[in-house]
Amino acid sequence: MKSDSLSTTSSFEPVLTRNIHRPGSEKIETYLGNGGYRAARRALERTPAEIIQLIKDSGLRGRGGAGFPAGVKWEFMPRDASQKYLAVNTDEGEPGTFKDREIVERDPHQVIEGALIAAYAVGAGRAFVYIRGEFFLGVKRWTKAIADAYEHGFLGKNILKSGFDLEMSVHRGAGAYICGEETAMLESLEGKPGNPRLKPPYPAQAGLFGLPTLVHNIETLACIPHIIERGPDWFAGIGTAQSKGPKIFSVSGHVNRPGNYELPLGVTLREIIYTHAGGVRDGRRLKAVIPGGASTPIMTAMQIDVPMAFETLRAAGSELGTGAVIVMDETTCMVEVARRLTRFFSHESCGRCVPCRIGSVRLYEALERVERGQGEIPDIDRILELAHGIGGITFCPMGTALVNPARSAIKCFRNEFEDHVRKGHCVVSRRAFRGGPDGKDSHRR
Ligand code: SF4
Repeated sequence: MKSDSLSTTSSFEPVLTRNIHRPGSEKIETYLGNGGYRAARRALERTPAEIIQLIKDSGLRGRGGAGFPAGVKWEFMPRDASQKYLAVNTDEGEPGTFKDREIVERDPHQVIEGALIAAYAVGAGRAFVYIRGEFFLGVKRWTKAIADAYEHGFLGKNILKSGFDLEMSVHRGAGAYICGEETAMLESLEGKPGNPRLKPPYPAQAGLFGLPTLVHNIETLACIPHIIERGPDWFAGIGTAQSKGPKIFSVSGHVNRPGNYELPLGVTLREIIYTHAGGVRDGRRLKAVIPGGASTPIMTAMQIDVPMAFETLRAAGSELGTGAVIVMDETTCMVEVARRLTRFFSHESCGRCVPCRIGSVRLYEALERVERGQGEIPDIDRILELAHGIGGITFCPMGTALVNPARSAIKCFRNEFEDHVRKGHCVVSRRAFRGGPDGKDSHRR
């Protein structure tokens, strides 16, 4: 994980990634040696209401994609419930996103400390860590970190003689994308298939096993000790009007230096790509960017001066999502991008509702026909109609996510779709097609 400091971010001091390059950064001794768990001590000396107010004042918004204000979420947790839970979402499966994995593998105590403070503030006595099954090293490091936190008195009974108890355990997922959605994750934690639940009720009202549950993503929890240590004004002083604090951007695709970069919210895509990620590979021209993971709408190279913030990206027609920046150069076929991403989402549909289960397959098939030059010009508008019939009407946000690649690719690069139909091949990649109706990637150059 890189934390370059150049250009408009030259005075920015990384905090979430400050320990990860230290030898043994995952160990509790290293964490304690760098001031770790000091924030937890301070938090436990204050009242839960004071901690909630601090988080509200900081303006922290969830880093998992939805961007809901964390302090408001904490306030939703009922005060009078005798048993409450915290669910730590480590099911990082959004294509292009790899920041939570790096935090968990290299600095797990930062998250445990954040989870301890959050659990104390909302009165949760039990924390369930749900981690993506493929994160073998992450599971190992989480498990060891939890054992060490128990040994040092940061978990268990009467933590730091505060009278507060917190038990924590790790649970591995089985690799389903949809289990990153909070209610699907809760279902999976309960031992059921990971199908999303209808909301309301929200997890804060009826979550895990029907009890009030606070759900947070890894990066969100990692921010909390720093807010307690440095104060809400420090956090609120970073970023834009509605998007506060530091953010880890996972940069992948056609850049010279892919990786995770911790930068202030509000940094432009231009600065992320050209200053920090080393620019586009082989000196090629930038063509398109997906700014927040595969489920967020594609943007063109003309939009790279948009600040990476919740409000500015929405105004520009996309979303901040997880902050996973996928960079595409001039050799990229946008019809192929739309088809491949639609295929991913179609494959990951849990199958519960028809528009997502069936509509995603029809969408994929239509995109494949156009890509192979077998479609007609009206098919492009039919793809948009189909997308319109899926997005926003499904049981969970997956329906909207799965139509974003096709819809935004046609909006930004319609001429490429028309070229495929008219010329029967891709003019960007100069690729011809076998045209076999096998539904597989049977292309040749
Ligand atoms: Fe499942 Fe898709 Fe419906 Fe979500 S939108 S519940 S993933 S079928």
